[in-house]
Amino acid sequence: MTTESPIKTALAQLRRAVEQLELSENDWNTLSTPRRILEVAVPLRRDDGKVEMYKGYRVQYSTTRGPSKGGVRFHQDIDLDETVALAMLMTWKCALTHLPYGGAKGGVAVNAQTLSLAENERLTRRYTSEILPIIGPERDIPAPDVGTDERNMAWMMDTYSVNAGFSVPGVVTGKPIVLGGSLGRTTATGDGVALSTIEALKAKGINPQGATVAIQGFGKVGYWTAVALEGMGLKIVAVSDVVGGVTGFKSIADIFEFSKTAGTVVGAPGTTSMTNEEILHLDVDVLIPAALADSITGATAGGIKAKIVVEGANAPTTPEGDAILASNGVLVVPDILANSGGVIVSYFEWVQDKQNYFWSADEVKENLNSILMKAIVEVSTTASSKNITWREAALMLGVSRVAEAHRLRGLYP
Ligand code: GLU
Repeated sequence: MTTESPIKTALAQLRRAVEQLELSENDWNTLSTPRRILEVAVPLRRDDGKVEMYKGYRVQYSTTRGPSKGGVRFHQDIDLDETVALAMLMTWKCALTHLPYGGAKGGVAVNAQTLSLAENERLTRRYTSEILPIIGPERDIPAPDVGTDERNMAWMMDTYSVNAGFSVPGVVTGKPIVLGGSLGRTTATGDGVALSTIEALKAKGINPQGATVAIQGFGKVGYWTAVALEGMGLKIVAVSDVVGGVTGFKSIADIFEFSKTAGTVVGAPGTTSMTNEEILHLDVDVLIPAALADSITGATAGGIKAKIVVEGANAPTTPEGDAILASNGVLVVPDILANSGGVIVSYFEWVQDKQNYFWSADEVKENLNSILMKAIVEVSTTASSKNITWREAALMLGVSRVAEAHRLRGLYP
């Protein structure tokens, strides 16, 4: 069976957790089924007057532990299966980090890079109005993901608010600060990936100072992870984007400056180029996949020389890839733990919006570190006491909390 699709990967991981937790078939049925799926047509009037139709989705995988929560992705390859898989992962991620949320994900199958700013705004607003009946601060709270950022969140917040007749900042997170965003949200996912990396290095007995890192993906997650790790004294030896990868740059600031104007890291003066597959196989201490799903597969995992893989992206490793890494003794910090910093600070943003009282950057950082450290300790101690991988431990913890919430709430009617 080939499992190189995010939904198959997510279901295979859930099946394993259900078995390890010795849950019942009833539990499996409840946990493996998304609760609400909305598929919408999103019409867009292009700047030249042409009208195009795009497919949009919002999947509320679970609302058992609280309102559903998760990002909105603008990417040409997304489909319903992938959105369901990512919404399922959000469910375990929020439970693992003890956030009072279920899990959701949404998106539009569009290449955001082909849109003008005005087109992007129209598409975002129309998508928001199509999913409006099912979102809200008490129902389902979208956030940025691949291909969206704080500008999209500002438009979503405005569209929802105009329809409500008053400002509703808590309907989305990842907003600009002036609209009720939280300090530290922009860097939060990268900060969390960095903290997870440091703890994984310590667990492997490797000194983080001077440890070498390769990062696949130089978007919001990869870039801020690189900035945080470089600031902590690690050596980022290679980064890549959709075009390809480079090594030999002086600093992250340098390569970022170049990529801002060139549109890619490839071709920066003094650097050596490589493919996105080559970056996976570099001889480094830590490999951080921070791009899209399915980059570490049965075909690519065998060549990985890193001792640690920290999953900045969601679902970057297929079950076949995962099995190879485990048998080669590679420590994998799973996505639902490693990249949970984003949704943790989203939670802080939502809390601040509810209270109309805003925290200092230090408070955000301190609370992020304490929630994430707690989850890291729970995962690593569960993994060593049961002699299982960090992924298995993280899923067991997340899935068991959702299953317990189901049991306590009972079945209506
Ligand atoms: N899109 C991010 C994730 O996959 C953040 C979600 C959120 O903040 O709600 O975790």
